[in-house]
Amino acid sequence: MGAARIPDLDVLVVGAGLAGLRVATGLARRGHDVLLAEARPSLSANIRTTGIFVHRTLQDYSFPDGTLGPPIRRMVLYPPGRRRPVELVSAREEFRVGRMGLIYEAAGEQALRAGVDLRLSTRYAGRAGGVCHLEGPRGDLRVRARYVVGADGARSRVARDLGLDRNRQLLVGAEEVYPIAARPGSTPAFHCVLDPRLAPGYLAWVVDDGEHVHLGTAGYPTRFEGGLRRALDDLRADPPGLAGVRRTGPVEQRAGPIPVGGLLRRISGPDGLLVGDAAGAVSPLTAGGLDPCLRLSDRAVESLDDALRAGGRGSLDGYDGRALRRRLTGRLGLRTVLAHLRAPWVHEAGFALLRTPAGRAAARAVLFHDQSFPLESRPREAAV
Ligand SMILES: Cc1cc2nc3c(=O)[nH]c(=O)nc-3n(C[C@H](O)[C@H](O)[C@H](O)COP(=O)(O)OP(=O)(O)OC[C@H]3O[C@@H](n4cnc5c(N)ncnc54)[C@H](O)[C@@H]3O)c2cc1C
Repeated sequence: MGAARIPDLDVLVVGAGLAGLRVATGLARRGHDVLLAEARPSLSANIRTTGIFVHRTLQDYSFPDGTLGPPIRRMVLYPPGRRRPVELVSAREEFRVGRMGLIYEAAGEQALRAGVDLRLSTRYAGRAGGVCHLEGPRGDLRVRARYVVGADGARSRVARDLGLDRNRQLLVGAEEVYPIAARPGSTPAFHCVLDPRLAPGYLAWVVDDGEHVHLGTAGYPTRFEGGLRRALDDLRADPPGLAGVRRTGPVEQRAGPIPVGGLLRRISGPDGLLVGDAAGAVSPLTAGGLDPCLRLSDRAVESLDDALRAGGRGSLDGYDGRALRRRLTGRLGLRTVLAHLRAPWVHEAGFALLRTPAGRAAARAVLFHDQSFPLESRPREAAV
């Protein structure tokens, strides 16, 4: 009996989060032969994001009808003791919360329509001698791919196998989501509690867009006294901004790691590249990863398309994390400074500053800005 033939592909994409779905669909639309392997049994299972899309994403990408919550213009920042919060209101829509299950499912349909071979319940288990090993529901599968794309999240196995950089600085985040009763006249709001003991930036959030509440917390794993679950319990017991809000449906739990060390330097090599969280494409200041994820994925599609059109011998060197990271220097520096300001009195002093016109202007520049990731805008197009 001869050995089973190993299928040859143009690209194996590992991970069907927003990054993997976008890369796989973009490449299939350009005529390439793509297999997308996802360990989860369904695209809307085990979601790991709140799904807040920022203004810049909403401007540059369109979403299918009914997949975004109402606009949020109001943000309330709380010091650790929660006294005298600072309210910022924007004239434009700053945030909208994606109904992520619907968005992932819509992206999956687009991928299938483009011709992607989407395999659910299929785990990438490693690569040796150019052959990738996948564990699927009907047994093991071996494939040879000209390029492998690591879209497998913050703790990327593909990054390791391709000898690329890996995320070292990770926060852990967890949240609960539930539907709420309509409250005529209420204003959607994003409440953030800052706590320098856990990590710089916002560490506990309550997002109330008038249809759903997202209640969550994130920080360095070693800094939670009593663990992440306990921090979430404490927040649930005393959530800012939720007086009079009535839950109307089941609670969904979400959790996951968040890379905050900034875009990795070496995100491509001769055999493939990294996108999304695997590439560290998350804002070092706000921990937002959805906008970077879309933009970097689009850049990856262009690089892979060029390389494949050169007969698979093209170089991916132009897909360069080091060059992009240079444009993030200011934000990375600010995060490093904030990471050292852990004493509560420093934050109280920071809040005193935030209450001044100059402080509010600085906060607006960080929170209501259009610079989430240093890749230029493209003509408006569909996100999924
Ligand atoms: C609690 C939390 C809240 C967040 N909220 C926001 C927010 O509101 N706004 C924002 O902009 N960003 C937010 N982020 C960050 C943002 O969600 C991520 O940056 C973004 O979703 C990353 O997408 P991705 O496709 O790179 O990774 P993921 O969505 O993590 O997808 C990776 C996929 O790879 C699959 N996978 C992993 N290993 C394998 C394997 N070996 N084989 C096959 N499949 C594999 C996983 O199952 C997963 O589906 C949040 C993160 C967390 C954890």
